[in-house]
Amino acid sequence: MTHTDADTMTKGERLNAEIREHVERLSAELAKGRTEELVNYLKLMGQLYHYSWGNVLLIFRQRPDAGRVAGFHAWKKFGRHVKKGAKGISIRAPIVRTSEEGGEAVRRVVSVRGATVFSEHDTEGDPLPTLDITSAQGGTPELLRGVIAAAAQSFPVEYQALGGPVGITDGRVIYLDRVKCDADPGIALTTLFHEWAHCILHVREGQRTEEARGKSHALVELEAESAAYVLSGLHGVDTLPSTNNYIQSYGANPERLFDALESIGHAVRTIMKALRPEAFDEEQHSRERADAARRSAEKRHQQGCHAA
Ligand SMILES: [Zn+2]
Repeated sequence: MTHTDADTMTKGERLNAEIREHVERLSAELAKGRTEELVNYLKLMGQLYHYSWGNVLLIFRQRPDAGRVAGFHAWKKFGRHVKKGAKGISIRAPIVRTSEEGGEAVRRVVSVRGATVFSEHDTEGDPLPTLDITSAQGGTPELLRGVIAAAAQSFPVEYQALGGPVGITDGRVIYLDRVKCDADPGIALTTLFHEWAHCILHVREGQRTEEARGKSHALVELEAESAAYVLSGLHGVDTLPSTNNYIQSYGANPERLFDALESIGHAVRTIMKALRPEAFDEEQHSRERADAARRSAEKRHQQGCHAA
C-alpha cells in the first residue's frame, strides 16, 4: 500500500484544501461569464450569516439547499432530531485550549478539526422558529431607521444632496443622497449596507486601508456590493440586477476571489453583529477565532512559499 499526502492530511487540512478547490471552481464559472454559482452561494451566506465564509462554502458544495444547519445535539435543543440515515455535512471547527496567563483564563485556537452539521430538511420535531429578519419585506422606513441607528454606533449616517452617487463614505461618515434615498427606503438600505461594508473593509478615517490598497477598484466594489446583496436579501430587498453588474465587471481570478469571499463574509458578520448581537454566541466567536488563526497560519505559509 502506498502512502499518499491525503493519508497524512488531518480532517481540518482536507477541509481547507476543499475550500481552495471550491473557490477555484467558482472562479472558473465566473471566467465563463456565469454568475449563478456565486450568487447562490451568497444567498446561502445570508441564511448562515453567523458561519465563517469557508464553512458556508463547504455547506454550499455539499448541500446547496441546506437552509439552517446545526449539530446533532444542537438540533435537540430546538426540540428536533436528525432523521435516521441523514447524511451529515462536514465543516471546520476550532480546537480551543484554555491556559492561564497573568491570572486570567485565555482561550486560544490551536488547530482546526472536522465537525458534522445537519440540514434543517433532515430533521423533524417541533416547528422551526421563523427568522424575524427575513420576513421584513421591501425595506420599510422603520427597518431603515433601525439599521441607520445600528450603523451610527460606528459610522454616523447623514442625508445630503450628493448630485450623482446614491451614497459615498470617507470611512468616518456615511452620506446618503437625500433625493434618491428619501424616495425609496429599499435603495437607501442597500446603499447604506454597501457604504458600511466599505467602511469596514476599505476606507478608514479618509484613507484606504492597507488591505484595500492592493485591490482594484472593481474588486473593492464587488466586495461592498456582494456584502450589500447578502444583507439586503436578509432584509427583504433584492438587489440582484445591480449586484450581477458588479460581479461581471470584475476579472475572475481564484486568489482574488479567495480574498474577496473572506472580505465579504467578514463585512456581513460584522454588520449582522451590530444589528443582532444576540445571534452570536460564544461558539460562533470561537469559529471566528479559528478562522483568524487559520488565516495567519496560511499567510505565514504563503510568505514562506514566496521566499522559497
Ligand atoms: Zn462602492
